[in-house]
Amino acid sequence: MSSLQYLKGIGPAKAKLFERLEIFSVADLLHYYPRTYQDRRENAPNAGLNPPSLTVFKGRVLRVQNIPARSVLIFKAFLVDEQNHQLECTWFKKRTFGSFRFDPFGALKKDFKMNAEIWVIGRKENKNNFFDNKITVEEYYSVSDPQAAWHAGRITPIYGLTEGLTNKQFRQFMQQALRESEAKKEPDILPPFLAEKRKFLGSNQALRAVHFPNSLAELENARSRLAYEEFLLLATAWGIKRTQHKVAAKDYKYEIKKHLLTPFRQNLGFEFTNSQKKVINEILTDLQSALPMNRLLQGDVGSGKTIVALSAMLLAAENGYQSALMAPTEILAEQHFLTFQKLLKKLKVPVAVLTSSTKTAERKKILAGLADGSISMVVGTHALIQDDVKFNNLKLAVIDEQHRFGVKQRGKLKEKTARLDLLTMTATPIPRTLALAFYGDLAVSTLTELPPGRQPIKTRQADEYQAHHLIEEEVKKGRQAYVVYPLIEESESISAKAVTEEFEKLKKVFPQFKLTMLHGQMSRTEKESVMKDFASHKTDILVATPVIEVGIDVPNATVMVIQNAERFGLASLHQLRGRVGRGEYESHCILVAEHKGSLARERLGIICDTCDGFKIGERDMQLRGPGEILGTRQSGELEFKAGDILKDQNILQWAIEDRDELLTNDPLLQNPQHAAFKARLLELYQKNWHLIDLS
Ligand code: ADP
Ligand code: MG
Repeated sequence: MSSLQYLKGIGPAKAKLFERLEIFSVADLLHYYPRTYQDRRENAPNAGLNPPSLTVFKGRVLRVQNIPARSVLIFKAFLVDEQNHQLECTWFKKRTFGSFRFDPFGALKKDFKMNAEIWVIGRKENKNNFFDNKITVEEYYSVSDPQAAWHAGRITPIYGLTEGLTNKQFRQFMQQALRESEAKKEPDILPPFLAEKRKFLGSNQALRAVHFPNSLAELENARSRLAYEEFLLLATAWGIKRTQHKVAAKDYKYEIKKHLLTPFRQNLGFEFTNSQKKVINEILTDLQSALPMNRLLQGDVGSGKTIVALSAMLLAAENGYQSALMAPTEILAEQHFLTFQKLLKKLKVPVAVLTSSTKTAERKKILAGLADGSISMVVGTHALIQDDVKFNNLKLAVIDEQHRFGVKQRGKLKEKTARLDLLTMTATPIPRTLALAFYGDLAVSTLTELPPGRQPIKTRQADEYQAHHLIEEEVKKGRQAYVVYPLIEESESISAKAVTEEFEKLKKVFPQFKLTMLHGQMSRTEKESVMKDFASHKTDILVATPVIEVGIDVPNATVMVIQNAERFGLASLHQLRGRVGRGEYESHCILVAEHKGSLARERLGIICDTCDGFKIGERDMQLRGPGEILGTRQSGELEFKAGDILKDQNILQWAIEDRDELLTNDPLLQNPQHAAFKARLLELYQKNWHLIDLS
């Protein structure tokens, strides 16, 4: 498929930005589906798509105003629509030295001519006042501009961005890419007999509709087709892999020697739960058997998966083998490292941590230690799967919070060595039958109980004032608190700024306490010291972005305040709440929601009603409304972009059935009618995955 630079306006620099989003080809771009949509239709019914502060307005310019203030320049435009609603739009520019040389509002003045008809999309300045008619503008389009129809007056795609790319650019490139692929009449990748059987939209039609849907119904049709395609591709890849790689017996053996496991258990300070004992047994049995382990460990937030993993890794160490634990975020990797260090100190098992911010000199040392075998355990992020990381005798890999990783990344750790035992861990379970049908050979263990003494976390919706009151009470008692703000438009740098502002505010609310802040833009050393200080209770209140969502473990923390809770998916809320209630103290979670629509209230109500992650998952599925049309990032199982392994169970069933039919008739996809499907399959899975061989 053609490279991205084939598109007009994308040179090497732009292409680099797209690469950050794993978009390398025009096909990748076309399959980069919107993160969400805004309803910008005229007289929009706003089918639950738009956040409450968003304003979409089409009107004529009544007048404009220039306000030169001392430190900023302000430009205002007043618009009126056909129903005589008025809107006041404001732009600010900081005054800088020499700024008189050109007019920072020159372009605006050209576009906002008297009587010009314009679409503006922006946020209300006073988000709590429904009648407020003042906004700051995020995008605007002249109605006379033929391209305006891509951005406004329609259900409009919103993409997950990276710094340097805007939604406007995304839509423009997407239009170009769609036109190209329609003009070329690229063949539909679905095998014709399956397209016939299932009667989905054609490929080009579906792609156009997922990016620029004419209605929500059309969008849902497109989404089903693309979900099916995704499922079929991955199911086929697994199907081929299963027939080609007859699992070979291990050429190494484990023996239970107990010189590490026994003292580990004795020094732990608590007993394993019965559930942990059972699961550890299952894992140790797998390890000792002749075939490599491929086991999924599922257990709710706080059920104690880490020490189960560590037990398995200790068996590897007892036998002189290396093991690695891969976590989805740096903070989590750091924290696992601290836990491991603490628990392994007496046992003298050498353990290291490797992330992308490990300093060069140290990294070199660690790589040497892994290559010569002197480091027996390593914890890290995907820095572990870089090509230059070589192991001496890696035999066991553990992947924590596996739903956060892509199939490609998980596959890569396995490639580090010929044969390997693999343990994956997750708090969001997949139904077992589906997992089996899909992967074929996955064993599943489940932690069914929480460690003793845990009390349900008291969860309620409340306002900021009540939240502050509770924080004050708890911190006075010697406990600690988290205050979490949502990611804004998926840009870490904007979120960091928002959190910084809130942090300054909170410092004034709690002058008597010690507050710290954590966000994704901080350096590794900063993050590490913030986490260490919080864990050792040098600080009382941690203000953060959702970087702390997974894994963070500070038993003395008893309050979790989640701001703008309506912006989080239920799975994320459950994960965040799981950061408290990890010790002996009664714990609280307060959801502060800006928007109390009935759906939002119902969703938050579920979290208040139950602490059972599985129940939350089920209710979440029943409730998913049009607002989360492409909702997989929330429920987070596998990394499907259009499909949702829970919501789309019937489509998944079709895909598995059809995969079997396809491979029975054409095991190596040699039929020319299947060439387009094969090409996409190889493009997706061969390069990074090395699992299938269709040559
Ligand atoms: P998760 O399953 O969410 O990864 P963790 O492994 O982080 O959970 O464990 C949560 C907390 O429970 C940790 O502080 C851990 O030390 C503690 N813990 C784990 N197992 C037990 C147990 N059997 N008894 C008491 N505390 C335990
Ligand atoms: Mg964990």
